[in-house]
Amino acid sequence: MDEILSSLPTPLRIGTTEIYWLSGGTFRLDGGTMFGPVPKTLWEKRYPAAVDNTILLVNDPLLIRTPEQNILVDSGLGNKLTPKQHAIFASSEWLLVSQLAQLGIKRQDIDVVILTHADFDHAGGVVMAAEQGGEEVSFPSAVHLMQETEWQDVAAPSRRAKESYWPINFNALIKSGAMQLVQGTYQVCPEVRICHTGGHTRGHQLVEISSGGECAVHLGDLLPTHAHINPLWVMAYDNFPLEVIACKERYFKQYRQQNAWFTFYHDPLMRACKLGGKGKITECWPQAVCPSTAS
Ligand SMILES: [Zn+2]
Repeated sequence: MDEILSSLPTPLRIGTTEIYWLSGGTFRLDGGTMFGPVPKTLWEKRYPAAVDNTILLVNDPLLIRTPEQNILVDSGLGNKLTPKQHAIFASSEWLLVSQLAQLGIKRQDIDVVILTHADFDHAGGVVMAAEQGGEEVSFPSAVHLMQETEWQDVAAPSRRAKESYWPINFNALIKSGAMQLVQGTYQVCPEVRICHTGGHTRGHQLVEISSGGECAVHLGDLLPTHAHINPLWVMAYDNFPLEVIACKERYFKQYRQQNAWFTFYHDPLMRACKLGGKGKITECWPQAVCPSTAS
């Protein structure tokens, strides 16, 4: 059994905001695909591969609690996977609703859902299987924010995008009218801002959290785990890998100057870190996981 971080316990505090990680389900992906051009002899030191070459990854949305709002960043795998899909991905259960309840939050209390992009591992929990059958919007009071270019590609996916933009994840949301498309940069609330990046997908976006002079940035699938800090460590899933490299170089420089936390969605070993020169990790969240070998 692989070790993974538990979700919830203590939030990462950014000024007056709190960031929790919720269990959106684990899955196993081919390690070679996760690390694209990187030789296995290098990546398997960080993420040991099983005999079938897969590695364990989490799909853990961030819950950002500002003084005024509950904001989710992405939504995990959801509860609509077929038995065959569960078997293919060796995926675990989606626990978002029960974990929100542990924090005293009902799914109706989520004010905003930010989708970094529309891949099924990020958007799978936006629409859930309803108890009475059929599907319903998981967070019915929330506005759902996505970049307009990402939505264009969901509506008319390329041959490749069809594999990960699943209509079942969006049909009920479209009917509900709860989708809000944005272009470029958009201020969600005083503490949270989203910004178009491209790179992983055409309409991928980042999330910046700023409060009380502190900052955290969520780079989504531009930085899926702490092992991807080397700008050249891109994924075979990246649609525009040269853009991903340029984005990482630009955002690392920009946010290091703010001493920002870089937060992760797919990393089973670390939730967030701060970076020093040459991509060296200087601080980790939770603190206990700081690997002496990480760089
Ligand atoms: Zn992903």
